[in-house]
Amino acid sequence: MSTDQPSRIQSEVRRRRTFAIISHPDAGKTTLTEKLLLFSGAIQIAGSVKARKASRHATSDWMEIEKQRGISVASSVMQMEYRDCVINLLDTPGHQDFSEDTYRVLTAVDAALMVIDAANGVEPQTRRLLQVCRARNTPILTFVNKMDREVQEPLALMDEIERELGMTVVPFTWPVGMGKHFHGVMDLRQKRMRVFAPGEDRVAGDEEVLDGLDNPAYAERFGMQYENAQGEIELVNEAAPTFDLDDFLNGRQTPMFFGSAVNNFGVQEVLDALVELAPAPAERAAMQRVVQPEEPKFTGVVFKIQANMDPAHRDRIAFLRVASGHFERGMRLKVVRSGKELRPNTVVSFLSQRRELLDEAFAGDIIGIPNHGVLQLGDTITEGEALQYTGLPFFAPEMFRSVEVADPLKTKQLREGLRQLGEEGAIQVFRPEAGSVLLLGAVGQLQFEVVAHRLEHEYNVKARITAARYNVARWVTCDEADGGEKELRRFIDHNAHRVAWDAVNAPTVLLEYAGELRAMQENWPKIKFHALREHA
Ligand code: GDP
Repeated sequence: MSTDQPSRIQSEVRRRRTFAIISHPDAGKTTLTEKLLLFSGAIQIAGSVKARKASRHATSDWMEIEKQRGISVASSVMQMEYRDCVINLLDTPGHQDFSEDTYRVLTAVDAALMVIDAANGVEPQTRRLLQVCRARNTPILTFVNKMDREVQEPLALMDEIERELGMTVVPFTWPVGMGKHFHGVMDLRQKRMRVFAPGEDRVAGDEEVLDGLDNPAYAERFGMQYENAQGEIELVNEAAPTFDLDDFLNGRQTPMFFGSAVNNFGVQEVLDALVELAPAPAERAAMQRVVQPEEPKFTGVVFKIQANMDPAHRDRIAFLRVASGHFERGMRLKVVRSGKELRPNTVVSFLSQRRELLDEAFAGDIIGIPNHGVLQLGDTITEGEALQYTGLPFFAPEMFRSVEVADPLKTKQLREGLRQLGEEGAIQVFRPEAGSVLLLGAVGQLQFEVVAHRLEHEYNVKARITAARYNVARWVTCDEADGGEKELRRFIDHNAHRVAWDAVNAPTVLLEYAGELRAMQENWPKIKFHALREHA
């Protein structure tokens, strides 16, 4: 390693911005993603992200599911350069049945961009995602989309977002009119107006910009909408607090922008805010110690595994968030859990939308490592240090099914398929302490359909998936001070008919009613019951 490497790592890390884009389906996430790519110069022609989405959409229900798993491997992570920053943008599945996947993606980012449909306000899926961001104090930027439609009054929207998010909203832009009378946005900080013109062909820099917030020409040109906006801006100036970077970075304030993604309008302001306000990669907690991003040694954590879209190829891509240091192709790495060596030569990066071979990456970047089951969700990869990052969440499933094979000769394939799908996080698989029928646990119904389909098409097993009587699951542990392993074993033996083991052999109790859980907790005060398991 050359002597100037430490300062190079430091400057590369500082210019990284890694964020997820979140929204309720149809708010305009795909459209905005594409426009961010367009404005950063990463793609020349808008329409490519959308086209891919549309073509996947059309064919069948299964394609609908496929679409939800991510538009494609290549476009679920995108890297672009803008000004002097490197932006990593992570897409999240819109459908709530895949929310677990999204929660894990959110552990890999330093900020989130929330897209809201101005007509619908805060919708259920947005609300759920926000809870996760809030729990982690992730800084959130808010983009209110579709101002070219008849939508809610901006003050009402601002109020709603504030209430729903439980954080203070600070408008950075303010709309003048809406729908047919949408004239543009006032940039409250730069004190100028960007005039709206519909159309998708415009690019950065060719908008009409007027200086000042109360230019005398405005009233004549924009009429009533301008006067309303002026009144609203006055109210906002009185009532809303000024922007505080620290409050934003700690998830207490969100800057709000108005625009129309489909018309390329308001996108520039968001992109600028991303590089100016969103944080560079921060330190990360591992079980052993806290790791700084600019440390020279490479470390990373697997937060998502995606099977190859082509069922003929069984290899999977593990998505790693680089947590520290510098990655180089051909580097010798170690999977801490298994102790296995990994020497990835075909690491994938995600420049704009092409999958490209990657030569190097820095803390904050996302890299893809193709592998055949060497890597699992939550794995930590290092240059040798025994380090395990924490914080990758698994949620107790809320729906259960039994799974058997129609043809007993295929039992082995079923187990192998379920093992792999479990490792991807597509479903949770439980092996009962008593009995031999495997159980599947999910957060959303669609997960069962995906699994049945993939078992059939990728593993050639027709699975019989039937109702199971359980509705509640909790992971169980016992602290050393309370009797540790021995007490846990006593609990398991006493409740053998209700205990099952998950993919990493963590014991779980499965119950029919929430009431049963309460009774059990009273009877077994030394046992701890967890609704969330963090990978350890
Ligand atoms: P996603 O499901 O959140 O990814 O949403 P899409 O980006 O696919 O957008 C959903 C629909 O809203 C599409 O038909 C878009 O063309 C449309 N849309 C997106 N942005 C705007 C906008 O600013 N104005 C209007 N009128 N429609 C928009």
